[in-house]
Amino acid sequence: MNPRKVYLDHSATTAVDESVLAAMLPFFRSSFGNPNSLHAWGREVRKAVDEAREKVAALIGAQPQEVLFTGGGSEADNLAVKGTAWARRDRGRHLITSAVEHHAVLDTMKWLGKNGFEVTVLPVDREGFVSPEALDAAIRPDTTLVSILFANNEIGTVQPVAKLGEVCRKHGVLFHTDAVQAAGHLPMDLSTLPVDLMTLAAHKMYGPKGIGALYVRKGIRLTPLIHGGGQEYGLRSGTENTPYIAGFGEAAALAAKRLGNGDVDRERALRDRLIDGVLSRIEDSFLTGSRTERLPYHASFCIPRVEGEAMLLRLDFAGIGASSGSACTSGSLEPSHVLLALGLPHEIAHGSVRLTLGKDTAEEDIDYVLETFPPIVQTLRGLSPFKKA
Ligand SMILES: *Cc1c(COP(=O)(O)O)cnc(C)c1O
Repeated sequence: MNPRKVYLDHSATTAVDESVLAAMLPFFRSSFGNPNSLHAWGREVRKAVDEAREKVAALIGAQPQEVLFTGGGSEADNLAVKGTAWARRDRGRHLITSAVEHHAVLDTMKWLGKNGFEVTVLPVDREGFVSPEALDAAIRPDTTLVSILFANNEIGTVQPVAKLGEVCRKHGVLFHTDAVQAAGHLPMDLSTLPVDLMTLAAHKMYGPKGIGALYVRKGIRLTPLIHGGGQEYGLRSGTENTPYIAGFGEAAALAAKRLGNGDVDRERALRDRLIDGVLSRIEDSFLTGSRTERLPYHASFCIPRVEGEAMLLRLDFAGIGASSGSACTSGSLEPSHVLLALGLPHEIAHGSVRLTLGKDTAEEDIDYVLETFPPIVQTLRGLSPFKKA
């Protein structure tokens, strides 16, 4: 038995950093006040919420008053898409998104498509890129919002966000991007990037689950999803989740530090070793997504003639936490919409595996995967009903 445990599913979620946990704890008991209260208990916590907002804003080059906290990435996506679609419904009812979005955007768009809006879903190329020219051609006089994700969670491809945003600017159309996988891992500066709304989630960057943020550029009007006490500039009512907000602030500060101190470059180098190692050791394997425009911690592959779920089970048995691109979690046998959008045939898309590194992933962890993974594939291929073409 090898006791080694290697977690390589950081695109699914990350562990809360020690410093993040320490930043959260006071707000459960000693600093428990409601930040909307005028007394000392409230004022103390209001200050902490303001500081957390400043840290999240600083990470992305935004103004603090452009950042509002939500109950996670999915909620921020819903607020961005439904909130702008509704607020601008008198100007037009046409929305544009891409075929490789996270379900929090894609399913929100589909719902709007059944409720009075019209949605264009742009295709992607082999590497998962949306073409700025295709976006340009798809925008109509009644288009009000474009939502295209910053970096893909399944295949790691980083979109040409600046170019896509410029196209939207040119047409006077709002541009939302889901940056849940990218924020804190890639430098970004919204003071120059042509993005109007951007989604973040703390738990993909060593913060807690259930807290996210929506960046809303100054002057943009949204209709809230949750009405009530008018917190978060009237856009997200409900008493602020102060421990989680404080934790998110600390996670943002930590991410800014990592982006500055070369830690992300270390991660990228390890990722490249993993990618090269898998491609050279596993016959016919190939990378999904872009090799160059790629999240620094992200590796994803298709392994022909092997079934994805079987790989994951054997990797898990060997102590390696990986995931598949396919929607096996929902018990569905349909391969992922993202892999199909790349033009991969079903039987290939079924053999996908995603390995996503974290800040604590070590050289030895990658060595272990490169030792362990190829024999697993060999064994499964021995059992595979698919013949080599
Ligand atoms: C994880 C993720 C989400 C959802 O965020 P939650 O905080 O889990 O709701 C949305 N978009 C992308 C790209 C993600 O990776």
